[in-house]
Amino acid sequence: MSLFARGFTRQNFVAIAVGVFIACVPLVVFNFWLSGVIDQLGQEEINLSARNAIVRAEHRLDLAADALNALAAVGVGTCEAAERSAMQRATFENAAIKDITILDSAGHSICPQGETATADSAIRRVYSSEPLSALKGYALDVLTVGNDQRMIRLRRPAAGGANEIAALVPTSLLMPQYSVDLFDAHAARAFGAASHSDSGKGDGIYARLETRNHAMLGEVGQRPDEAGADMFVGSSVSRKFGLHAEMIVPRAYLAHGEWGIRWVGLLVTGAVVTLLGLFAAFLTRREPNNPVADIERALAAGEFVPYYQPVVDIATGQLRGAEVLVRWKKPDGSLVLPGAFIPLAESSGLIRAMTYDLMRRVSDEVGPAIGQRLGLKISFNFAGKLFADDAVVQDVFNIFAKSPIKMSQVVLEVTERDPIENFAVTRQIVSSLQGLGVRIAIDDVGTGHSGLSYMLKLGVDIIKIDKMFVDSIGTDRNSTTIVETLVDLAHNMRMDVIAEGVENFEQVMHLREIGIRAAQGYVFAPPLPGSAFLKLVDAMDALGEGAAPERDAA
Ligand code: C2E
Ligand code: CA
Ligand code: CA
Repeated sequence: MSLFARGFTRQNFVAIAVGVFIACVPLVVFNFWLSGVIDQLGQEEINLSARNAIVRAEHRLDLAADALNALAAVGVGTCEAAERSAMQRATFENAAIKDITILDSAGHSICPQGETATADSAIRRVYSSEPLSALKGYALDVLTVGNDQRMIRLRRPAAGGANEIAALVPTSLLMPQYSVDLFDAHAARAFGAASHSDSGKGDGIYARLETRNHAMLGEVGQRPDEAGADMFVGSSVSRKFGLHAEMIVPRAYLAHGEWGIRWVGLLVTGAVVTLLGLFAAFLTRREPNNPVADIERALAAGEFVPYYQPVVDIATGQLRGAEVLVRWKKPDGSLVLPGAFIPLAESSGLIRAMTYDLMRRVSDEVGPAIGQRLGLKISFNFAGKLFADDAVVQDVFNIFAKSPIKMSQVVLEVTERDPIENFAVTRQIVSSLQGLGVRIAIDDVGTGHSGLSYMLKLGVDIIKIDKMFVDSIGTDRNSTTIVETLVDLAHNMRMDVIAEGVENFEQVMHLREIGIRAAQGYVFAPPLPGSAFLKLVDAMDALGEGAAPERDAA
């Protein structure tokens, strides 16, 4: 199995995709919100533009009213020469006023004024307002003068039957102006035009000024057939003069504001997506390089399960018990052998938790069956370092105190290959465990460096002869002698002997000749899953009366 490849499994990709999707939801919401902000800003800007246009129109009409007030104050009301020249001067001095005139009660100009005069015959009245309440009874007319020029005629009320005095203000002077009303300085620059007479400038922009009763004062641009979502519509009214301004501007013209915000949105979105990508890459890279974390996760997920290899009495054929061998059962159903993870579990310190977890599982799985048959022993492989801390005594006690499996049925195997760091401490722990009733075996005898005599000083109960020697018995004279010596030694020291890795019947015969009673190996059974081992335990009861549960207790 390539650990690196594990990081890129389909689950990984699905998990990352789901993660990215979930993380993107706030981003989408954020960008929706930004769009809302952009809309709101555009709407506010266009409303403000309409308001500006109205304020400026009011200002010009106010100036015209001021001029009329000033003339009235000096008694202007007839066409006498002095009064005419006062009117001419006021016209000249006020930029918004085209003409000032005196009107008779029928509204006709009674003193045409030479060059600046507007001939009555050229005037068509389009609309007349009620007296303006906010301007002391003033009223205004909308006129069409000559070649379609629109004017506002502001009329000052005449006291006591005197003639009205009126000022003509071209509506073109009141119209919204692109550069001032529709764009701020920044936008005008971005649009690349200094004056609104430039061709192309303001395409698609529409502005209109009218009276409250929709008498047209003037319009700029072409009114769009319908103002869709790509348009902002803004309007404002002048209560004082009864005017109404409307503006329609394509969103694109307000893009300067929009893009500022869109950039923020894009930057935030880009940054978050990049971070997510890096994080995902980090996860997939990190995981394959951390097999210890894999083991930790698998341990928490209960993926390490016990298998049981039967130990058989080769003199009677009875079952003596089993050795527990751990298997890593992956979620996909595959089994990993201990050689692939035990060394790492030992070096990382996870072996303690793994071993105890295995003991509890065995206790749950086969405890009831084993506890009923006191002659059966269950043997656990115990890493050498677990014997270095005397807490192990209490731990083992805690696990089996509540288990159907009796302490006397528990065997702990320590391999001859594991170096003993502190002999005195280890020996003390071994004897404490034996004090609980637990028995200790030395595993892989004949393959280690410590030397058997050294190991035997620990005072163990069982020695397990390694497969290497079992294979050579009967064929290799030296090996046979070594095993014979071992068996003698063991019997003298009242230790049991178990032969490991027995694969054929010939080997069983040789082991019997030498006086070995117990053996395990493929010739009897491979390591079995719990369910199969339990069936075997049951079957062996039925076979040999000698192995019946009640009698085992003896
Ligand atoms: P071991 O304790 O010497 O276990 C015997 C090994 O020989 C087992 O390998 C078993 O499956 C295999 N075996 C049994 N009969 C035969 C046979 O007839 N022929 C052959 N060729 N092999 C046979 P497995 O299960 O792969 O375990 C390997 C080693 O992993 C074990 O060697 C033991 O040192 C270690 N181990 C297994 N479970 C645990 C555990 O729970 N804790 C610790 N610390 N180590 C464990
Ligand atoms: Ca073993
Ligand atoms: Ca062994």
